[in-house]
Parts: sequence; structure tokens; C-alpha cells
Amino acid sequence: MAQLNIESPPLEHPRPPVLARWFTPAGPAGVTLVEAGGGRVLSVPGRYCVTHIIEGPTSLVLADVGSISDLPRIAAAIEWLGKPVSLVLPTHLHFDHIMGIEAAAKSFGAGIGLGQVARTHVESGRRLRFIRRVPAKMGFLVWLWQGLPVFAREDVPGGFKFGFPWSRNPFTAPIVATLRDGREIPGLPGWIALETPGHSDDAICLYHLAGGLLVAGDTVRNFLGGEWNTLMSGPAAYLNTQARLSAFEVQAVFPGHGPVLIGDGIMTRLQA
Ligand SMILES: [Zn+2]
Repeated sequence: MAQLNIESPPLEHPRPPVLARWFTPAGPAGVTLVEAGGGRVLSVPGRYCVTHIIEGPTSLVLADVGSISDLPRIAAAIEWLGKPVSLVLPTHLHFDHIMGIEAAAKSFGAGIGLGQVARTHVESGRRLRFIRRVPAKMGFLVWLWQGLPVFAREDVPGGFKFGFPWSRNPFTAPIVATLRDGREIPGLPGWIALETPGHSDDAICLYHLAGGLLVAGDTVRNFLGGEWNTLMSGPAAYLNTQARLSAFEVQAVFPGHGPVLIGDGIMTRLQA
């Protein structure tokens, strides 16, 4: 695999959810820049999830913006990278990954990109299946591992239109790209989209072939050192996704929650 470089850029680290420092076995996510094989990803932890900024030759693509309150720190990271944003895309339509998507697209003058399944649901107004029954204890644990975040003032009321079981996700920023399985992501040569249903029916991952980089959304999480998600809307589909991703050459995984995972063969070492 290509040589992998990791840096900690001189950017402000988030304050909330500071409690993750004590409660999360893997520790809190940090601001991290990873480069391999020409692929470059700057991870900026936010209030509810991590925003991954993927650098293309002339522009940036933002994957997941959980909260409108994350925008100032994302803006600082964009300025540090020094390129315009061409696309803002959610890895899946869950509130903790999309409440800030519309505001980010408008604020950075970018279009929205959606996976094929997400786009079909958004445009037809059909609701996605939500995660199947979650035991209260597991629900609480996940919230605890995230550092017990509470909703930000900035997300009320606009953010609440997005990503909840009752939401129709009424994006008004232009949807300019559909991310299809195995196809290149606009503005990001060398990166392809992968449809990875299971945690949610519309989940996608972004994969950089030469660098072995995987932006995973909630398909992989890192609260415990790197694990598959126990919250699922489609358990059978998730088994297929796990088998498929395990065959990819990956040396860095960028999870939606928790620190970046590094190491050859990382996909085969994830906890079930
Ligand atoms: Zn999710």
C-alpha cells in the first residue's frame, strides 16, 4: 500500500462533546490530516459526528455535517486547506450526520451530493426505514460514548427538518450529484462511492483506491477501538456490506464517530 502520513494541523479542537474524553474507550476524535497515494482527508470532529473534508485537485468535498454549530470550525479548516468547497454530502440521512448539511452547502456556496438510495427517498418524499428496535441500554451507551451531546441552539428549528424518523429532508440547496456504486465522486479523481446498506438503507462509503482510504460514515465506528455498528435498519444487508468491505485494501478508516483507524488489514480486525 502507498505510504501513509498523519499530521495534526494547527486547528482548534472541539470543546463539546468533551465528556467523550472520559467515557469513550477509544477516546475522543481529534483534528487529523491523513494522506496516502494522492488521497488526502482532514477530519474535523463536530458536536454529533466527525466531518471529513476530502481534498481534490481544485476543490474540497465535505462528508457529513452533523450540526450547524460546527460550521465555524469547518470554515477554519477549509480556509487552512485553501480551496473552495464543491460538494457537501451525507454518508446517510441520519440527523446526527445531516442537520448541518443544508446550512454548510449554502454557507460554502456548494451543491449537495446524495447516494442513489438517499436521493430517491428525498425526491419522492418517502421516509427511510429507521434503525430497528434499539435496547434502551445500548441507546444510552452510544450517547454516553459520544460524550452525551445535547442539541445545539443553532440547530433549532432548521436542523430538525432533517434526518429524524418523521423527516422528509426538504433540502433547498441544489442537489447536484448522485453518488452511484463503483462510480467516481465528482471533483475527486481516484475516489469512488460504495453503496453499503445495513446501518441504514441509504448508507454509502467513499473509497480512495490508491491510498486505501475509507470514509465510512456509520458503517464503521470507533468507540471501542474499531467495530462494526450494532445499530442497523437492515441486518441481512449489513452482513453483505461487511463481507464486501472486508475484501477491500484499506489502511485508514474515517468513522462517523471516534478517532481515525490506521493499520493494514484494519477491515478484517473490526470487532463484531
Ligand atoms: Zn447513523
